Amino acid sequence: MVSGEENAVPVLLVEDNPGDARLVEILLEEARVTGFEVVRAERLLEALELLERRAFDVVLLDLTLPDSSGLETVDRMRAAVPQIPLVVLSGRDDEETALRAIKVGAEDYLVKGQGDGDLIARSIRYAIERKRAEQRMAYLAQYDHLTGLANRALFQDRLEQALARAGRSSGRVALMFVDLDRFKVINDTFGHMGGDELLREVAARIRGRLRESDTVARLGGDEFAIILENLAEAHDAAQVARDLLEIISEPVSVGGHEVSMTASIGIAVHPPSGLEDILMDADTAMYRAKERGRNHYEFYTEEMNVRAFERLTLENGLRQAQRRGEFLLHYQPQVDLRTGYVVGVEALLRWQHPQMGLVPPGRFIPLLEETGMISDVGRWVIEAACRQAKVWSEQGLPALRVAVNLSARQFGRHQDLPGLVAGALAKTGLEPALLELEVTESLLMEDIEATSRLLRELKHHVEGVRVSIDDFGTGYSSLYYLKSLPIDVLKIDRSFVRDVPVDPDDAAITAAVIGLAHNLRLEVVAEGVETAEQLSFLRERDCDLAQGYHLSAPLPAEEVVRLLEGGAALLTG
Ligand code: C2E
Ligand code: CA
Ligand code: CA
Repeated sequence: MVSGEENAVPVLLVEDNPGDARLVEILLEEARVTGFEVVRAERLLEALELLERRAFDVVLLDLTLPDSSGLETVDRMRAAVPQIPLVVLSGRDDEETALRAIKVGAEDYLVKGQGDGDLIARSIRYAIERKRAEQRMAYLAQYDHLTGLANRALFQDRLEQALARAGRSSGRVALMFVDLDRFKVINDTFGHMGGDELLREVAARIRGRLRESDTVARLGGDEFAIILENLAEAHDAAQVARDLLEIISEPVSVGGHEVSMTASIGIAVHPPSGLEDILMDADTAMYRAKERGRNHYEFYTEEMNVRAFERLTLENGLRQAQRRGEFLLHYQPQVDLRTGYVVGVEALLRWQHPQMGLVPPGRFIPLLEETGMISDVGRWVIEAACRQAKVWSEQGLPALRVAVNLSARQFGRHQDLPGLVAGALAKTGLEPALLELEVTESLLMEDIEATSRLLRELKHHVEGVRVSIDDFGTGYSSLYYLKSLPIDVLKIDRSFVRDVPVDPDDAAITAAVIGLAHNLRLEVVAEGVETAEQLSFLRERDCDLAQGYHLSAPLPAEEVVRLLEGGAALLTG
């Protein structure tokens, strides 16, 4: 033992020749900078046993030992302790082998009988540093720096290993893709720092729910992948999925705000899914879960392939649609219940697909939102609606207000909604008072402070523009908030209107909402009016405007003109 100092570097010297060993010990004693604590082994097996029992910072390894010789010695040492730096001791006449040892994984080599204590000390320190850097790089190459989870490369390896093991043991492997819903909104609202904060929290929650032996990876963005091995039943994965949905949906604090997140999970199980398609299958199942309305999990089934193909076709089609001018707007009249005249219209987006015909918005708007294309299309909608309203006003028709639906995406921090709206009005020359922007109640409630700040900014920037709350009653607004919001109109969701004649609760809610809105000096629109009964109920309760198939379906612009030129009120009696 050379030194008993506290911070001495523990060195394992593997050398059978007592003279050579003694020399190294003496030289290390001489080394001026660091103390070393040298423990010696004479054979490779003895060394390996010592390494199992205690920690060493470095191994000095003679290649010619009684129980092993040459590069084989390096290989065996490397295999046993891949994490410990290795300095090979070579004879004067065998530098060739020493160099080869470095190629197979030794950090450095020393030629016996050459150099002094400082040289050996430097070599040891260099070997330790080099190993550390190497491990850091290996870590970076395999782990996601943001969350510390496995990255895509490591995940691929682990998946292949898991499937190979399953093949041998006839166990099952489940692959899950977890994708956060509407994560883009968080990023747009709180910036990348906020997004990162959320990803780290979600990663920790997922990791915390799983066993050490399960692989959890982040594949990029807001996409996580999980490999579960040794499943007895495919459906054991369902319990994990349910738990994950639950823990992910617990509120997260982002930039000092409480946010609630949901995720969609797709699961594919091997067997039957094989190595080549398990990734695709899990992905397909994940999209299906999203389609089902988010916060769901789905197992892959054969028939999903067909839908996945459809989705891809739709998405590709959408990428071309704007350039090819396939988007258009229909306008649904809103009727003043006191006079019977049409006073406004709601612009509704339509996609005229060359082969599929008119694609309903429920099928493509979610896709526009997921892909981010909604920003461009939404901008187009606002402008096209303003332009149309301007044309109508120039045709000398009675003033017609146009309402445009806004999507969550358009509220993003980088979207500059006020600038966008002001721009569209300036470009088309439409009076701001003739433009109304519809914001769904649930979007508004998602982050009430941020949205209301943005709306205020908008109204400050574009004086006279109107804001309405869409689908009112389906969110969770506390009525208290309504007072503080910069809104002008409240649209009662059609689910209440539908049951007004038969469901006393819905009738009571609708009547109460109308009363409340009037107290707050808001205008009330009832949407989805399909029958005369609904209409008369609404008129009795003093509802201001109505919209629905009973009055008129959404129409192309020319037909709106025809309807108005007819001059007749849409209501009688
Ligand atoms: P929404 O804003 O609630 O629009 C009203 C929807 O109800 C329209 O469906 C309309 O055709 C339908 N509707 C009208 N009268 C009746 C009725 O009497 N009964 C029933 N059951 N339904 C009626 P549409 O055009 O399919 O639009 C669906 C949704 O797509 C809209 O719901 C809106 O959320 C979204 N959307 C439409 N256009 C746009 C757009 O330009 N931008 C954005 N972001 N979303 C849009
Ligand atoms: Ca609407
Ligand atoms: Ca609505």
